[in-house]
Amino acid sequence: MDTELRSLLEDIEALKGSLPDASHRDSMAKIEERVVKIMSITKAGTSRRSKVKAMSAEVVDSNPYSRLMALQRMGIVENYERIRDFSVAIVGIGGVGSVSAEMLTRCGIGRLLLYDYDTVGMTKTDAAVQTLSEINPDVVLESYSLNITTVKGFEVFMESLRRQNPKNSVRDDARSAGVDLVLSCVDNYEARMVVNQACNELNQTWIESGVSEDAVSGHIQLLIPGETACFACAPPLVVASGVDERTLKREGVCAASLPTTMGVVAGLLVQNALKFLLKFGEVSPYLGYNSLKDYFPTMEMKPNPQCSNSACLERQKEYLLAKPVRDALAKAKNEAEASRENESPLHMENEWNISVVDDSEMETFNAPKDSDELPEGLTRELPSADKHQEAAALGGTSISSNDVDLEELQRQLDALNAS
Ligand SMILES: [Zn+2]
Repeated sequence: MDTELRSLLEDIEALKGSLPDASHRDSMAKIEERVVKIMSITKAGTSRRSKVKAMSAEVVDSNPYSRLMALQRMGIVENYERIRDFSVAIVGIGGVGSVSAEMLTRCGIGRLLLYDYDTVGMTKTDAAVQTLSEINPDVVLESYSLNITTVKGFEVFMESLRRQNPKNSVRDDARSAGVDLVLSCVDNYEARMVVNQACNELNQTWIESGVSEDAVSGHIQLLIPGETACFACAPPLVVASGVDERTLKREGVCAASLPTTMGVVAGLLVQNALKFLLKFGEVSPYLGYNSLKDYFPTMEMKPNPQCSNSACLERQKEYLLAKPVRDALAKAKNEAEASRENESPLHMENEWNISVVDDSEMETFNAPKDSDELPEGLTRELPSADKHQEAAALGGTSISSNDVDLEELQRQLDALNAS
């Protein structure tokens, strides 16, 4: 390409010299200018790095992953390279979704599935794929320009989530979904309920995210079907921003947006996604963010045995039935850890002067027994449309407490199934 453009430039130069008319020479100069411009663009294009076969910890300029792989060397992540085996679906490529997609791309995620129905000249998802493939050509990117709240859109959505990653033909678990995590970055109640439905049906763990209409607070929430509250189990919670509710936008009014709040929520979302996938640290069940006070409340929500979503009830039943196996595994793990503690510590030297911070300072609320008793700083996000209010009311408005007896739950479920 470069050689061809160079010879074209030479031809133009020769032609320019042989032209008697000065006005022709001017237009030739303009053509010449354009060729030079094209040359610089193609040069920038070829500077894009080629694909990397294997992640290495080697510290050289040509290795884009040395700093990420250092997490492994420092003992934070056991096997960082595993990130290449994971598929993550991001629903909604707006403020939070696009930033989250970029972060996961920079982290070297194996495969990203992007969903949005909007267009920005071209479809939003195609535009995102173009940008992200420039950032990291190693990531397998799939663009789905569709509306998941339509019947057809939902079908394609489900089908795409089920499809196994062609890269890993054999999975280490036998789940029906072909993705490892779904991140919901949509901006409306209806779309969240659709993601909830899909994930309950597929038994697929997902993390929901949201930014308040006044753009000064947000939250993320981990949803594991059967184990935690699903989106229909309890009405969504938002962190109170300290702004008068009556000034908040309702239907037909433009919501506020702050790139900083979007960035913080996206950061919290992807941080927890990485912890979930690579199994390090603790994944927050619910983490709120109030930017006005820099306040981060956390809490846990158990599933509602009276949830209106039948797939959720199915998952709750399965979760309870698997309890003996889970308990036995936990016991075995504890015993293995106890016997390991008797041996000498794994790391004697502390090359990086890493100290373990006591995290007991973190405020953690128990789920309130009554829906009116929410942890300080949290309020309910009211669905805007009437049918949403209706749906929320039908979906049950109470969050069960942490200490609900599991046997009692089982009994209630059995009664539900028998009826
Ligand atoms: Zn539920």
